Amino acid sequence: MSIELIANLAYILASALFIFGLKMLGSPATARRGNLFSSLGMLIAVVAALTDQQIVSFEVIVGGIVLGSIIGALAARLVAMTSMPEMVALFNGSGGASSLLVGWATLYVGSEAIPTFTASTVALAILIGGVTLTGSLIAYGKLSERINSAPWTFAGQRIFNGLLLAGIVVSAVLFAMNPTPDSQYLYALIVLALVLGVMAVIPIGGADMPVVISLLNSYSGLAACAAGFAVNNNVLIVAGSLVGASGIILTNIMCKAMNRSLANVLFSGFGSHKVAKAVEGEVKPISVEDAYYILEAASNVCFVPGYGMAVAQAQHVVKELGQILEKNGCEVSYAIHPVAGRMPGHMNVLLAEADVPYEQLVEMDDINPRIENVDVAIVIGANDVVNPSAREDSDSPIYGMPIINVDQARTVFVLKRSMASGFSGVDNPLFFGENTRMLFGDAKESISGVISEFGN
Ligand code: NDP
Repeated sequence: MSIELIANLAYILASALFIFGLKMLGSPATARRGNLFSSLGMLIAVVAALTDQQIVSFEVIVGGIVLGSIIGALAARLVAMTSMPEMVALFNGSGGASSLLVGWATLYVGSEAIPTFTASTVALAILIGGVTLTGSLIAYGKLSERINSAPWTFAGQRIFNGLLLAGIVVSAVLFAMNPTPDSQYLYALIVLALVLGVMAVIPIGGADMPVVISLLNSYSGLAACAAGFAVNNNVLIVAGSLVGASGIILTNIMCKAMNRSLANVLFSGFGSHKVAKAVEGEVKPISVEDAYYILEAASNVCFVPGYGMAVAQAQHVVKELGQILEKNGCEVSYAIHPVAGRMPGHMNVLLAEADVPYEQLVEMDDINPRIENVDVAIVIGANDVVNPSAREDSDSPIYGMPIINVDQARTVFVLKRSMASGFSGVDNPLFFGENTRMLFGDAKESISGVISEFGN
């Protein structure tokens, strides 16, 4: 058996591990194992790739692995959970940069000119990789508020983008017809692709950045896939396609949960925005002590976590309160909205970290039909995902977004620090509801306060 055949068999094994790993990531119960399977697949793929006869310098590769591992380990340890989407943006950008460089480097392998098909895949790797790189950097800047996160538009933007696209097509075709490393069309393609990444993301508001990041994740997969064709590496083609496909599926799920089309997310910066009706009424604050009395008497409580739970890191005390309520004979559930928090599965991850039993997690579509039987819905730092104007105010920018109908529970406690709006910047009539009580303060402190009341 030749080394090449063994490497290809290893690639098949690695691809199977990626696919099983992805499948397992679909449920919190198997997600950790899924991650392990995929990592093992990647290890096998890397080792098999290292048997390639064309490798020039193992020193540089080992140096890269050590440096990359240090950066990865530090990032995983130091980056706060709430900054995860920004980190993913940077990772996507690095993926795009790698594909661009791998595609470009193909031109320097061997002394003969590469065939037109390979040249086309090189052009694609450079184009998609370049767009992913600069698009991700802008997305990172907007999300971390290092640059202005408002949509950025200027007169003639569409014409400029049209010319940019035309320039890219012409450069790519002319390069593919004569693919040499010193082709001026190659350099033009690299520069134009980098500019296109910037132009594609600047008109999109910071509020839509998580969707953009998911889309860029998909692009980074497509770029890797194109690079896989360029260097003729099967596992890179498979892994790139998997990332490309799963990224686009996730983008679609996020758009659906926000009741938006992808076109609306990508191009709404060019149009006008709706303005919601002003919300007014009487706010009824509640003390920790009074909240305790109501909870003590409740027989069905549903926690509805949102981004504020992540900020307050309240998941452990939430679980503790859930256990106390259960001991008190109360039925406890945790309702999860698909886009609560700032990344898909954000709430599931936090609640899993606090060891909340999976069986107590309920999806939005399961809780809504029986929300009227809930005695107390405890909203922990959630805002947009429980905003009734999404259901009732057709002028609201979030109109049509499916929400958890906590306003239809018998009583609602909203735990947040102020009357500030959430991610979408839209006011929330829930806070003025007849059956709503506002428990102001940091969610972790408020819940700890209620727990101490149970202890007294
Ligand atoms: P929101 O951003 O709507 O609201 C979060 C609330 O948490 C704020 O109103 C804030 O109020 C409160 N909060 C912040 N810190 C604390 C704290 N320490 N203690 C208590 N409360 C706190 O969050 P939701 O989860 O309801 O909604 C998610 C939003 O993100 C949606 O608009 C969704 O479309 C969007 N989004 C989500 C994505 C995802 O993948 N999950 C992707 C793309 C967009 P205050 O400052 O008064 O405390």
